[in-house]
Order: sequence, then structure tokens, then C-alpha cells
Amino acid sequence: MRMRTRFLAAVGVAALVAGGALPAMAQGVTEQDIINDAKTPGDVVTYGLGPQAQRFSPLKTLNRDNIKGLVPAWSFSFGGEKQRGQESQALVKDGIIYVTGSYSRMYAIDSRTGEKKWEYDARLPEGILPCCDVVNRGAALYKDNVYFGTLDAKLVALNTKTGKVVWRKEIDDFKAGYSYTAAPIIVKGKIITGVSGGEFGVIGRIEARDAETGEVVWKRPVIEGHMGELNGKPSTMTGKVNETWPGDMWKFGGGATWLGGTYDPETNLVYFGTGNPGPWNSWLRPGDNKWTSSRLALNPDNGEIVWGFQTTPHDGWDFDGVNEFVPFDLNKGGKTIKAGATADRNGFFYVLDRTNGKFISATPFVEKINWAKGIDENGRPIYNEENRPGDPSKATGDDKKGKSVFAVPSFLGGKNWMPIGYSPDTKLFYVPSNEWGMDIWNEPVNYKKGAAYLGAGFTIKPVFDDHIGSLKAIDPTSGKVVWEYKNKAPLWAGVLTTAGNLVFTGTPEGFLKAFDAKTGEEVWKFQVGTGVVSSPITWEQDGEQWVGVAAGWGGAVPLWGGEVAKSTAGINQGGSFWAFKLPKTVASR
Ligand code: CA
Ligand code: CA
Repeated sequence: MRMRTRFLAAVGVAALVAGGALPAMAQGVTEQDIINDAKTPGDVVTYGLGPQAQRFSPLKTLNRDNIKGLVPAWSFSFGGEKQRGQESQALVKDGIIYVTGSYSRMYAIDSRTGEKKWEYDARLPEGILPCCDVVNRGAALYKDNVYFGTLDAKLVALNTKTGKVVWRKEIDDFKAGYSYTAAPIIVKGKIITGVSGGEFGVIGRIEARDAETGEVVWKRPVIEGHMGELNGKPSTMTGKVNETWPGDMWKFGGGATWLGGTYDPETNLVYFGTGNPGPWNSWLRPGDNKWTSSRLALNPDNGEIVWGFQTTPHDGWDFDGVNEFVPFDLNKGGKTIKAGATADRNGFFYVLDRTNGKFISATPFVEKINWAKGIDENGRPIYNEENRPGDPSKATGDDKKGKSVFAVPSFLGGKNWMPIGYSPDTKLFYVPSNEWGMDIWNEPVNYKKGAAYLGAGFTIKPVFDDHIGSLKAIDPTSGKVVWEYKNKAPLWAGVLTTAGNLVFTGTPEGFLKAFDAKTGEEVWKFQVGTGVVSSPITWEQDGEQWVGVAAGWGGAVPLWGGEVAKSTAGINQGGSFWAFKLPKTVASR
């Protein structure tokens, strides 16, 4: 013991002499590292490159003019036979990349060489119920732990150096349809997560745990009538029983918080979106069905709801409201407003005051929307009642199906899970979207534990001949589309934008692509050999700028895409992480 103490002391002294590297390393990732992540390009310690998740890097070593020199440095295989659905955003800290793989796996990789440090496989039980492929979207770092959620609805903390389990806690019962796929967030020593499982009549909630012990601090159900929890005791009820839900329907009301959240240090608010109400058949649940298909702002200290904004009240099209709410400063009429923006599944791009949830604007970001005629001055949709699937209780045929309608966008959304980016340089949002519609009809349904709770049937169809995917640059002051890149297959990857006037995203056809952030001109692409459905990152290392992305086709499109899935049938699956860099010799030219 004495030997060890003396050894550590000696190393400590040596490190201090060498510039104090060891004390900083020993702390791992601090609160300040998380808060400052967007401004520190030497690491990526949060999902979204900063708690606000703007996915903007201030790096400009790599830029629009020299990007032709960006070359692959190494590629890492996730191994095994589990080759599908790689939707993860990687993290980088102190020369290690942490990236999750499909089927609840995590890898620590040397960021310079691509060599594996360790691998963790959650070894999933039989009978898990992931609705929309076996994906995972990323991890969280805090102190010496790296955290992620698993498909059997567990939350796992691993030691960053060894990959050994520090703690493992159950979020909820996977047999009832709960799972977990989103990247957790860390706020003031707490790890904050939601739940997945919205197609199984689960109750959406947001919860915070002590990041060091995994013990629950608070829980906030998002469906009215359900009781919250704080420090092991009941806290407050969400809304009032039967205020916007009839009878007992709120008890299996859905609202899954399956895409995680963002955090704004300026307002000390955590923002989460909530999924569709259950079941999809809206005739069974008259009313607004709060807080489904909404954005909620919570106090991270106690889990109380500070404000809520419902994008699709009384949803009848599976328009989950989970899409990320990204804080940004809106310049309007000479004033700077603390705003936030979100590109909803329902096809409208919303700007809200992030301090109080007040509606500022909503504009369509996909074409041919027909479920609503527009959004009124309070932010409420003006429904096209003819475009709500018909009531099956009025059906006259033997099949008991209600009237089928063709609705745009499809239930996979104007935008689905794939994260948007915001550049404070160009003051534009970059939105990976899809142009598609669906035939949808309603059917009778009853809640049964662990069974799909839809009461609907559907087929997705394209609305244009030449493309489905559409990456759009949107000006949040006007809602105008400044430029558009059209892609034949549906886009399913996140966006990264940089001070080098660049926007990156991936395509199912297997390309990582870069665009001029101001004009949309395609300036670079690289074929990774399988579809890209993940979120790219960039970081600085040894004076060079690197770009990294997970590769591996999968996700909801091939499983649920109907006619659209046929257009992607030839795309091969995969599981790998690619690292690119701009060599110093090229950068200095
Ligand atoms: Ca950083
Ligand atoms: Ca849903």
C-alpha cells in the first residue's frame, strides 16, 4: 500500500512538472467540460457537441476550400454478425473515442490509430421489444464513467478506462414494451433519460438519477393524471385527471420520450420531446391528450414542468413530438430573443421562446403537407378534418376498417430522429428531411401488455418521382428554405456544421457528404461501403482536424417504409466507425 502511494505521488509530481496533465485526466469529464463542450474542439464530451446540441464546431482548419484533401485515416469494425442500424454519435476525450453499436454494444477506440481499447456487449435477453430496429444513438461522459441505455431498458455506467460495469439499473420492464435507444444527458451531476416504447402503450416519462450511484432523484411522467416522484416520495401530478383525456385512456397514453433531451445552461432548463398518444386510432381518445406530441421544459433540480408546447394536439398520424429542441439566439426586429427551434415530425419547423414556451413561428419544411392547412397565431394546427383517418366504429364493411386517407407527411415524419444542426456563423438551421406520404386507416384495438397498441394500418409512398431525402438550410427568422439538397433515398443521418463553412451528413447510398454551408453546393463525398444513418462529429487532434462517423444501414426505413423501403432494398448492412483527417501538409498549403 505504501509502495503504491509513493508511486502515485511520484507520478503526480512528474505530471505537474510536465504541465499538470495527470490531475486533469484523473478528474475525467467535469461539469465545466460539459457546459463548455461547444467551445472546446479538442474533445466531444456531449451528444450534440454541446448541451444545446447545435452540432456546430468552431473549427475551420478544414474548410470549404481545402476539403478535397480530407482523407480516411482508419476504419474500425464493430465485429460479430450484428451488422445493422448504426445510428450512434461518437464522443472523443483524451485520445479515446466512445461509440455505441447496434444491439446495445459500446466500443472504446484509440482516436489516433483506430485500435480497440475495450468493448462492452450488453448480452440482451430473449423477448426485447424494440419497435424500430436495434439501434443506439450514443453515450454520455461524466467523471470517469461512460453511460448508455440498452434495448432491454437498462441504463449502464462503465469505467472509461476499463469498460467494466460501475452500475447497471433497470429503467423499466422490457416485457411491457419499454426499451432505451437515446443518448443520456448529464446535468449538474445527474444523468437524465426518457423511455422508449411508444407503440406499446407505455407511459412516457423523464427521469434523473445521481450519475455516480444510479439512484433515482426524480421522475416526471408526461401524461396528465400520473404522479411524479422526488427523492423517493410522490411529488406532484402532471396536469389533472381527465382534463384532456377521456375515461381511462390516459393510463396507457403513450408519449414516449424516446429521443432524449437537450439542456440550456442559460435558462437552466432541460428540453424533452414527447411521442404520439396511444393508440394511433384517435377516435378512441377525444381531446388534446396532453402532453403527447409536445415539447416540455423541465427544472433539472426537481423534475417540475416549467412549460409545455403541444405541436400536434389529438394526434392521429403518429406525429411523435420527440424531435430535439435546439436553443439558439434569434435576432428579430433588432432584438435578441432566447429562442429554440425544432423540426417536427408533422412537417412544420417551430421557433419558440425557450424561456417560457411562447410560440414565435411555424413554417412548413416539407412540401404537400395536407393533414393541416397551417398553424394559427397561437401555434395550434388548423386541421384538415378530411385528412384524419376515418372512425372504424362507423365502418360498414366486414373488415371493420375506417376510411383510409392519403396523409402528408408520412408517420416517419417530415423529419424523424436524425438531428438538425445550427450554425451561429450562417444563422441557418440544417434539417435532414423526407418528402413522403402514407395511406393510413384506423382499426379497433385494445391495450394488452407487451403488444403493439396502434389500431391503424399504413403504407408509406413517395410524393416525388426523383427524390425522397431532402437536406434543407432554413432561416429561422423567416422560415424560408435558403437551399436544398435532394437525395434519391430517404435521409436518415444527423447533421454536423462547422465554422469552416461546411455541413456534413450521410446517405443510405453509403456516402458521407459535405456541403457549402452558405450555398448548399456539394463539395466532398466518400463512400463508406454501407448506408450512413448516424451523426458525424469533428475534433482537433495533434494540430489536425478530424471527422468521424459510424456506418451501417438500418433503422426504421427498411422495417416500416412500405413502398419506400423497396427503393433501399439493395443497400447492404454494416457496422463500423470511420475516421478522416485533413493532413497537416494539405492544411498548410
Ligand atoms: Ca468540446
Ligand atoms: Ca410513434
